[in-house]
Amino acid sequence: MGWSISLGRIAGTEVRIHLTFFFLVAWFAFAAGSRGGQAAAVEAIVLILAVFGCVLAHEYGHVLTARHFGIATRDITLLPIGGVASIERMPEKPGQELLIALAGPAVNVVIALLLFTVFGARLDPERAVDAVGDLKIDLVTQLAVVNVILVIFNMIPAFPMDGGRVLRALLSYRLDRARATRIAASIGQAAAFGLGFLGLFGNPLLLFIALFVFLAASYEAHAVELREAAKGVATRKATITSFATLDTQATVQQAVDTLLTTTQREFPVTDRSGRLRGVLTRDGMIRALAATWPGTAVLDVMERDVVTVNCHAPLSEAVTALQTSGRPVVGIVDDEARVVGIITLENLAEYMMVDAASRGWRELAPASPMDVSHHK
Ligand SMILES: [Zn+2]
Repeated sequence: MGWSISLGRIAGTEVRIHLTFFFLVAWFAFAAGSRGGQAAAVEAIVLILAVFGCVLAHEYGHVLTARHFGIATRDITLLPIGGVASIERMPEKPGQELLIALAGPAVNVVIALLLFTVFGARLDPERAVDAVGDLKIDLVTQLAVVNVILVIFNMIPAFPMDGGRVLRALLSYRLDRARATRIAASIGQAAAFGLGFLGLFGNPLLLFIALFVFLAASYEAHAVELREAAKGVATRKATITSFATLDTQATVQQAVDTLLTTTQREFPVTDRSGRLRGVLTRDGMIRALAATWPGTAVLDVMERDVVTVNCHAPLSEAVTALQTSGRPVVGIVDDEARVVGIITLENLAEYMMVDAASRGWRELAPASPMDVSHHK
């Protein structure tokens, strides 16, 4: 995710913090400081750091449970509205998805219980809603209330909230996954409208969250539709087989010439035996032209870690590779690891439209390429 800095690795997963988070800290400190002076500002900073510690613990609840089922997590990004763990894939088994989804909120339940029973948080239920940010209430109690709010908020049955995944997992016990996702996504979008409506009359932050939930629900529905539709389909059906490649000796200038004479936007860079060494995208070329000179070797500016999929593998494997790599292209290779084609988000979307039209699926709207890119 752009605009974020790494705090290092904890238990094998990189922890990143979004730069906007620092604005949030500064804003809270300023707001508290203008009401209660320096001591209040310091207390606000301590509270917000403690809250983000709890959010991080929540994300690790998901991450470590996923790892238990053999699923890795690239990184966790802390945003002002919470944390996002880029868990590489969700398990197909509903029971596993259920446990991964519940593990996050469960961590906050444990923290809240500890704060109330061991660390002396005490709450007058009448003032619960206003407790956070109230200077007369001690930090431990405020932190306990935040954890309770985190549990309630995350259990809203809407993607990308954990409650949405819990709902889908429960539905998956009775229905197939695509159907379960569609129903869970519809409920999520309805919840988003509800939140947005509340936001209109109250907290404007709810409007942003509503938009976020709405987009995430649409994304999730498309992503699963795509994977389901690609099951049992041969990869070659959606593979681009006539395409230009760049030689490992090529320069950025030669790449630009190729860009201008084709309609392609992603160019595989292959060595003499036809093996994929990397991919140079149109954006990568533009960046390279701006930063260096046209004689620069493409090897120095291409993206190296491009995922490849065997041409005999089912299309669903290529779809999963595209969705989890965050890259716009996967290389399709033969048994000798030579490139025989590429699959991009764009031509995958084209394939889906053709497929949907030929099957007469009215409900499957053509997915825009944006919907399946950069799932974080
Ligand atoms: Zn969560």
